[in-house]
Amino acid sequence: MATDSASPKDVTKRETNERPEKTITPKPFPPEFYHRFLSDDAKQRKPSPIRGLFPLEDKPGVISFLAGKPNDAMFPFQSISFEVTDPSHSSQSIPVSITGTDLRTALQYGPTAGLPRLNEWFVALQERAHGRKRTEGWRLTIGNGSQDMICKAINAIINPGDPILIEAPVYAGVLPIFSALHCELVEVATDENGVCSGDLRSILETWPEGKQKPKAFYTVPYGCNPSGMTATIERRREVLQLAREFNFLILEDDPYYYLYFGKAVRPPSYFKLELETPEVGRVIRFDSFSKVLSAGMRMGFATGPKPIIDAIDLHTSHANLQGSSLVQAVTLALVEKWGYDGFFTHTEAVAEFYREKRDTFEKALQTHLGDFAEWSTPDAGMFFWFKLLINANPDEEGDSKELIETKAYENGVLALPGTVFLPNGRKTAYVRAAFSLSTEEEVNEALRRLREVLVRERNG
Ligand code: PMP
Repeated sequence: MATDSASPKDVTKRETNERPEKTITPKPFPPEFYHRFLSDDAKQRKPSPIRGLFPLEDKPGVISFLAGKPNDAMFPFQSISFEVTDPSHSSQSIPVSITGTDLRTALQYGPTAGLPRLNEWFVALQERAHGRKRTEGWRLTIGNGSQDMICKAINAIINPGDPILIEAPVYAGVLPIFSALHCELVEVATDENGVCSGDLRSILETWPEGKQKPKAFYTVPYGCNPSGMTATIERRREVLQLAREFNFLILEDDPYYYLYFGKAVRPPSYFKLELETPEVGRVIRFDSFSKVLSAGMRMGFATGPKPIIDAIDLHTSHANLQGSSLVQAVTLALVEKWGYDGFFTHTEAVAEFYREKRDTFEKALQTHLGDFAEWSTPDAGMFFWFKLLINANPDEEGDSKELIETKAYENGVLALPGTVFLPNGRKTAYVRAAFSLSTEEEVNEALRRLREVLVRERNG
């Protein structure tokens, strides 16, 4: 995609252009469509009697005694100043400061969906990155990291005991949410091309008559945690097609979207790809700035059909009122200073950083475990998912649990056995290794130590 002032620099420039010949204008679903998707909890939540009235304060001339907002004259902060990297010259820094009205906003209670200017910045980001017009029935809300949004979205959709479709292996951070809801976890296998959509089809086609159907499918489409896989466009299209045929929503948990470093053009997100279908509004997308700005800031947002995002907001207004205004103000000052071009220059640098880390790790894997492990090369994210050939006989599926948890750890290597990411905890020879932090020297030393353990294991 060309970059000019009318069409700003944009992550989609590395995206596949394959589109169906016929251009269609997809229609958003009407709000009633979501009634069957909302959980009983979500339907019963009532707006907070005070927060719901906040917009009334904006009427010019109104004198408000409404909210218990503390008087900022008594806040001890005079200004907030920090320095950020200049995305075009990474060795230089740019000063940023938050003062005046922006400082008052940063220190005060704010809207449930986030500071309006930041929310708007993210909406325009989604328009640029995913080609979605804001008129298509979706909205966005800002949370305390994407985990906060994922947890609230699941609670807004799933009733206790409901079935839910999840990819396997799956991000271990969602399993406790599902188990607290006593969900029936319906696993869909994945391979090096992402979700095995054929398996998903056969699960749905053979769904027992009369049994409640799953309302949602949870997936991490780029650089999946833990499998490292990025789903191909074909697989994504098939999953979307199944969502239409079997009437379910797609929970697109995408913290590694900006960490795509594959050689092939980037496949579109589900949120973008649903533009190919006649109706839009099946995808709820979770973005995270943890990997691109800072994990400690806890900055994430959910984008999707208005009724579902409204339900998340109601939950937020009950649970924690809003995300931190201060963190949002810092994020806003930073992204406004950088602009979209600067933001995308930064995320490209982040992706390149992790590509180098991936290459370093893979080279070391080849050197030390070439004859002891099998893997597919990740094109995004920060994880290697490799199968240990624990037994000399490759047909025997080993179990990495004890070997990784005890023997490797005793030999000075810490990683996670694959069983942690399998919903039913079944045994597997896979291991997840995060390649984000270690130096080349550390990776080589760790994999050398792991080799020692495997040699000992094989020799009995
Ligand atoms: N989803 C996945 C797949 C993750 O890997 C993570 C972070 N480990 C999260 C969600 C949570 O991210 P955040 O820091 O934005 O809450």
